[in-house]
Amino acid sequence: MPSAIGFDPHDHSHCIEDALQAAQDCCTAQKLQFTPVRRRVLEILLAEHRALGAYDILDLLAADGLGSQPPVVYRALDFLVRNGLAHRIERMNAYTACVHPGQEHVPAFLICRACKAVAEIETELERGRLGEAARTAGFAIERVVVEAEGLCPACAGSGK
Ligand SMILES: [Zn+2]
Ligand SMILES: [Zn+2]
Ligand SMILES: [Zn+2]
Repeated sequence: MPSAIGFDPHDHSHCIEDALQAAQDCCTAQKLQFTPVRRRVLEILLAEHRALGAYDILDLLAADGLGSQPPVVYRALDFLVRNGLAHRIERMNAYTACVHPGQEHVPAFLICRACKAVAEIETELERGRLGEAARTAGFAIERVVVEAEGLCPACAGSGK
């Protein structure tokens, strides 16, 4: 049964399970500790394909009895971001789970300003207008932040 969570209809229950398994595999392969707090934070981020602030996550963690101190959340988020399991959305100062953990990619984000849904798409450093302009200028791009803000299909349809 496809779910409306995320921009593309997909089986969302698999989505969470698969991503948690992929994260576990990444951690095992790199001999990293996938602690209960790190796992739960990732699970919270995966729950709705939405951008969440550290304090939103903290509330849910505290409700689970996994910790109520901001450093606990920040350390877990830092771990997830550093290891490519989650991304920070700079303009919202929020976090989202990566949709292809363990793969080398340059993420770009489509962010709904109404419901905060986030879709991660891929971009490439060297392609497109930006890559061309950089080459012309003799500039070596090392990092690109692409965060597009707008309305997701559900919100555009509801006339918000
Ligand atoms: Zn999903
Ligand atoms: Zn990603
Ligand atoms: Zn929306």
